[in-house]
Amino acid sequence: MMLLIVTPLVVATQNPGKFSELQATLAGLSWELLLMPEGLEIAETGDTFLANACLKASKVAEATGHWAIADDSGLVVDALDGAPGIYSARYGQTDLERIQRLLNELGDEPQRAAHFVCVMALADSTGRIVAQAEGVCSGEILRAPRGKGGFGYDPIFYLPEREQTFAELTPEEKHQISHRGRAVQALLPKLRALP
Ligand code: IMP
Repeated sequence: MMLLIVTPLVVATQNPGKFSELQATLAGLSWELLLMPEGLEIAETGDTFLANACLKASKVAEATGHWAIADDSGLVVDALDGAPGIYSARYGQTDLERIQRLLNELGDEPQRAAHFVCVMALADSTGRIVAQAEGVCSGEILRAPRGKGGFGYDPIFYLPEREQTFAELTPEEKHQISHRGRAVQALLPKLRALP
């Protein structure tokens, strides 16, 4: 009889969507994904995506005594010197406000290149970072929202090669090419080899 030994892995997010997406990607591997304990809040005090992802993974591992995986992501707009960047979630109160603020800041600027960035970090049960990976997806900021899917800045993030916004893709299509999908794929070889 084959015995599969599984290791608990806490996903450092309160977002059920991110959790189930990761669960699907890691199916069949020797990890048992656990939700982050309720009430555990970690302030994102780092000044890079990498610093914040490492901070979240380490703190959750230290607090739970289990391996932990965390991501930090955001939208980097060239003409705004990289804003909103690590402040993407804090750029407004609601998705609509964040989108409106970004469109106002960009105004009529013709240079509308932007990149979604996601960094993932994996900490062992002592909180030591043992792996990290980055995923990037490049596109352009539209002048008005388009599409009903996704979340956050998806309706204004346009992929010229597909002639669609992130909000016009199915969740599966988005996962194939998104910054988060790419970061998970880059981390997969390490997740297969560990613990
Ligand atoms: P966090 O990584 O969960 O802290 O998310 C950072 C913020 O970046 C989110 O609240 C969104 O505003 C934005 N963001 C990150 N990924 C995406 C995406 O795939 N689509 C749209 N917005 C995103």
